Parts: sequence; C-alpha cells; structure tokens
Amino acid sequence: MTIRQLGKIILTIFLLSFFTVLTTHNLYHAGTLQRYRKMTLTDDWYRAHFSDGEMEAVEPELSPECKALYRNVIREVQYFPVPESAADPSLTVSYVDSWQAERNYKGTSGHEGTDIMASENKRGIYPVLSMTDGTITNLGWLEKGGYRVGITSDSGTYYYYAHLDSYSNIKEGDEIKAGEFLGYMGDSGYGKEGTKGKFPVHLHVGIYTYNEQEEISVNPYYILLSLDHQKLQYNFTNIMTHRPANQQQEGTRLYSDENNQGRFLWR
Ligand SMILES: [Zn+2]
Repeated sequence: MTIRQLGKIILTIFLLSFFTVLTTHNLYHAGTLQRYRKMTLTDDWYRAHFSDGEMEAVEPELSPECKALYRNVIREVQYFPVPESAADPSLTVSYVDSWQAERNYKGTSGHEGTDIMASENKRGIYPVLSMTDGTITNLGWLEKGGYRVGITSDSGTYYYYAHLDSYSNIKEGDEIKAGEFLGYMGDSGYGKEGTKGKFPVHLHVGIYTYNEQEEISVNPYYILLSLDHQKLQYNFTNIMTHRPANQQQEGTRLYSDENNQGRFLWR
C-alpha cells in the first residue's frame, strides 16, 4: 500500500465518522424538538424547569398548552411576594430551589413550591403581597397550608400563599391587584386550625394550573428569581402591629398610592 492510498483511507474514515457524528447529532436534536412539541403540562421536566434558562431557550418549540401556561405566568407576575423593609434593611428573605424535596407530614411527599424564609424568625412582621392581579378563590385554614390565600388569575392560573400568621381585611371573591397586601408571614399549619410554630417562619408559594379536573403544580422558584428585582418597599419593623388571624376583627389594610407605584402606605 502506498502512502497515498493510506492517506485516502484515513481521509475516508475521518469523513465517515464526521458525518456519522453530525447525523446522530441532528437526529438527536430532531428527537428532542419532537419531545418539546408533544410535551404535556404533567411532564416532569416541564414542571421542574418552569421558566428557567433551559425552558426559555426552547420556548418556541413547546407544545401549545405548555407555551400558554409559561406565557400566562410570565405575563401575570409583577411583584415579589415579600417586600423589602424601608425601615429595617436587616429584615430580608432567602429561598432555594426545593422543588420535589422530601416533606414529611402524615407521610412523605414531594415539595410543590418554594419556601421563602425570613431572616428574622418571627411571625407576623413580614407582609405578604400578591404577585399578580386576580380573584381570591380560597381563604382560610388548611391542615398542611395553615392560613392560606389562593388567588386565581384571569388565565385560570392559581397562585397559592401558605402558612400566614394573619390576614389583611380580604375575603373570598375580592378582586386583588398585584402588589396588594394579603396578610403577614407566619408559621401556621401542620395541625388543627390555629396551629403555629411547627416549623420556622416562611411563606410557601405555589403555582398551579388545571387540566380538566386535574391540579398540576409547576416549580415557582425561577419565577420568584425573575421577580427578585421587583420588590416593593414597605415600612415594616420587627414589632408585630396587628392581631393574629384567629383574633382578628377589623384588619389593617395597606393601600397603594396610585400615582406612586411601588410605595405603599399605612392607612
Ligand atoms: Zn413549602
């Protein structure tokens, strides 16, 4: 065999492997696209990666139902559900992606939300705000969620806020604006009505959609992350200024100054 023949063989082998890799890659890519186009709302990847960078990149390829929920939520959320304190900058919050992390209350289950933890572990001081416009469709005690607020947006998406210490003077059926005060963060839940202190003070945030009768949760973590720079400012301190939910009479409600969005005042 001459050097020239050997060279041809080597070149042929090189080209063959090059095109094999290329074809395999294209097939793989086509297969992945196909997967996004057929994706349903119950898909585990979709629920876990809801609105993260990976999902954003493939958003045009998502199935109509998956794309619709994604776009609705992105459009609807306006404010982070806990404001910054203008009075005491040490009152901060933190949260991590704990999607499907193990939770143990009356059996083991996967965490269907994000827990926003309070730097000051004290119930009744951090205000909880609605992230979106919508209607209050659920209010009151849930064994797991404690004092919770459920807000349904125009698109039918359900935004769930749990473990509150007390409510503002809201009631079921009320129309709510994004940034509106719902109540105070607490540690209620995991027992009969009024149970408090079974875990540290935090706000549990959940986002749900409905497929016929089926309730489907998606990971709110990346949505919260996208709202991290959309925090309102409130004047709250670490002194509780209200009655707990079960003793509440006339609640204290915060109102927004229409001409000065982002600044909320006591009334
Ligand atoms: Zn939680």
